[in-house]
Amino acid sequence: MDTLIKVDLTAPATDHDVIHNRWHPDIPIVSWVKPGAQFRVECIDWTGGQIKNDDSATDVKIVDLSKVHYLSGPIGVEGAEPGDLLVVDILDVGVLAGYQWGFTGIFARENGGGFLTRQYPDARKACWDFSGIYANSRHIPGVEFAGIMHPGLIGCLPSHELLSTWNKREKALFDTDPERVPALATLPFAATAHLGRMAKGDVPTAAAEAARTVPPREHGGNCDIKNLTKGSTCYFPVYVKGGGLSMGDIHFSQGDGEITFCGAIEMAGYLDLRVKVIKGGIAKYGILNPVFKSSPLEPTYSSYMIFEGISVDEDGKQHYLDVHVAYRRACLNAIEYLKKFGFTGAQAYAILGTAPVEGRVSGIVDIPNACATLAIPTEIFNFDITPSADGPVKSVPPGADLAFAT
Ligand code: ZN
Repeated sequence: MDTLIKVDLTAPATDHDVIHNRWHPDIPIVSWVKPGAQFRVECIDWTGGQIKNDDSATDVKIVDLSKVHYLSGPIGVEGAEPGDLLVVDILDVGVLAGYQWGFTGIFARENGGGFLTRQYPDARKACWDFSGIYANSRHIPGVEFAGIMHPGLIGCLPSHELLSTWNKREKALFDTDPERVPALATLPFAATAHLGRMAKGDVPTAAAEAARTVPPREHGGNCDIKNLTKGSTCYFPVYVKGGGLSMGDIHFSQGDGEITFCGAIEMAGYLDLRVKVIKGGIAKYGILNPVFKSSPLEPTYSSYMIFEGISVDEDGKQHYLDVHVAYRRACLNAIEYLKKFGFTGAQAYAILGTAPVEGRVSGIVDIPNACATLAIPTEIFNFDITPSADGPVKSVPPGADLAFAT
């Protein structure tokens, strides 16, 4: 497998001209390949090495989120033109030699936040060690699971027109409550934009309008689909000549929803890819957002404990079919349950963000309550978590917890 993009994990992210941290149509293609080509792309972790393998969460607390995500690319595919679909087979995903570890952060409410930021407002961190396909953490004893390694973020460059649509609609939302913490949207921010090989003279204009990488959008981007592992295929809309495929934010494992925001097990790694083009594929298949074909390879957990949530919030207020509220309540219910076995709330929160838990919209028509469910594989715990007449047994070795910030 030829390595098309190589990274140096000992060098600053911004020393790499094959890496960028914004979406903009004029970011120069770093490498061209022919349809049918297979190649390896190395990626640094999404923060560009800001988070260390240690026992303090101060790095999570002060992380500069205006710099993320660092993406490898863009890669051009010969013959790909606007209106086509870029077919990307994910042949393999792996860990880079010498870096067999990852991290999970709970972001501080004032710096990123997360799905449960009201209940867990402080910065915390768990580090994970990889043993082949398995992950375990000195900060969360009692748990081990098989990872489903996947890129959290992958997609093609937007056109100028699409970029302008993104900027307009996200600014309009932001402006409805500009003081909100966390913010309603992440708007362009020129100071920390890194635009790969763009000529110096072109950078100021592009940096001022280049889209941030946080939200998923029509091109894919930060979709955080935990099942997008080796063996799956992506079909991306093409908006610029060559497509301009970029990727990063590789996860060792993630629970549906990536609820702590930095909720997956984040790592540096590589992707082995094969690319093809379907001419005129956007119109042929009526594509607005990317579509994916699943992989034959996934962990085969078969026994789950399933938690329900409904659209009644923590203050007892009734919401109308609100899945956001319902999923949050399902997560909070699961956390309270896991605490009975000795986990701290932060440990349980991190488990839901990282282990291969399944989130589902189970009911969306039964007014006024949506029903969201969260399914946790029972086999990831080294003790029994099913209810019994004797009640829960405190089984988590005491002492360990997620790292705090100082
Ligand atoms: Zn991530």
